[in-house]
Amino acid sequence: MLDKSKADWFHLDVMDGRFVPNISFGPMIIEFIRSTTSKCCDVHLMIEEPEKYAEAFKKAGADILTVHYEACIHLHRNIQQIKSLGMKAGVAINPHTPVEVLKDILAEIDLVCLMSVNPGFGGQSFIPQTIEKIKALRRMITEKNLNVLIEIDGGVTLENAPSIIAAGADVLVAGNTVLKSANPSQTIDALKAF
Ligand code: ZN
Repeated sequence: MLDKSKADWFHLDVMDGRFVPNISFGPMIIEFIRSTTSKCCDVHLMIEEPEKYAEAFKKAGADILTVHYEACIHLHRNIQQIKSLGMKAGVAINPHTPVEVLKDILAEIDLVCLMSVNPGFGGQSFIPQTIEKIKALRRMITEKNLNVLIEIDGGVTLENAPSIIAAGADVLVAGNTVLKSANPSQTIDALKAF
């Protein structure tokens, strides 16, 4: 159903029970999803030591691999590794992390994932302060004349999507809003229409 829908990407949340207080799935499940779709597989690693698994996620079929700023002591090295494996590189930041910390890495990456809830569980409410972070990040990207996508992850609904887009977001992750709705395909259509 999702493959036939107007959704552009599959956003796949990998959780390790260490960086976040929950465990989800790993490369094996992503490989299975990869085999069912030709859409972009956007893999969001909420894990510690992502360098140990980058190659496994490439083999599983990830197109974009996003690591957490808070989980990477050598973030620049992580980004280089992801790109050298032939994937697009993303950096995610938690709600408490200011966008300014990305200043010196922004030119190296393809995507910034702004967490608009605390990572670990679906179904949480959008943190309103994220709107200001989107605007600030959009200014940073424009000032440097870069081509970096802004992705918003957590609590996206049909109600708040227009203001998130107006603030400057490019990619909206919608898990609960789509999958818990009566007609997921129609909900995707409604989100795409904004
Ligand atoms: Zn995510």
